[in-house]
Amino acid sequence: MRLRFLGSGDAFGSGGRFNACFLVETTASTFLVECGASSMIAMRRFHVNPNRIGTVFVSHLHGDHFGGLPSMILDGQFYSRRTAPLTLVGPPGLGERLTQAMEVLFPGSSKVERKFVTEIREIPPDQTVTINGVTVTPYTVQHLCGAPPFAYRFACDDKVLAYTGDTEWTESLLAVGRGADLLIAEALFYERKVKYHLDYATLKASLARIGARRVILTHMGPEMLAHVGDVPEETAEDGKVVEV
Ligand SMILES: [Zn+2]
Repeated sequence: MRLRFLGSGDAFGSGGRFNACFLVETTASTFLVECGASSMIAMRRFHVNPNRIGTVFVSHLHGDHFGGLPSMILDGQFYSRRTAPLTLVGPPGLGERLTQAMEVLFPGSSKVERKFVTEIREIPPDQTVTINGVTVTPYTVQHLCGAPPFAYRFACDDKVLAYTGDTEWTESLLAVGRGADLLIAEALFYERKVKYHLDYATLKASLARIGARRVILTHMGPEMLAHVGDVPEETAEDGKVVEV
């Protein structure tokens, strides 16, 4: 499994980073985890052909995590001339919120016939499903976004990729990341405690219990970015490639 951070930033472009977007390539599938508002720009920047992506998993329905989907769908229609189906996976409410986003940003765009099918898969928490060759288990976390927020545990190529999404500390993260080959974890703050988000100090206190083999911090705000040199864990960068 090969993962590339196309976007490793928070919602507000801290550090000049793009919104959350990770490209994952396995023997069976090429997919995105998250498609934040800037993700089409990030794909162009890193020369990723969006037609190669069959599936997008979004953790929750905030603009910096799913707000790039309208542009990705319209790019498929107008520029990339997509014909292959695009499967969008996320929590219950994804379909309705995507329609609303498309109508606000590009009125009429949600009702247009295209040369490719956009399939919405709203999946329930705590159930393992395999979608387009990707086996994933979503877990409910603690984050306020108008729909259930998920963390994900992916199993591909005999490896486990775990991702916290955005959340304050919750014990469900133990199941998400336990023994994972790679855990990608939110670290919006360094030590400041804010409801619905993770800070590095809180995460650090539970990393041994999670027991992931490798940890990469992402979604870093200004306070955390100022401390990147002070932590032993790896931190994400836009464009960083990781072999899992
Ligand atoms: Zn969020």
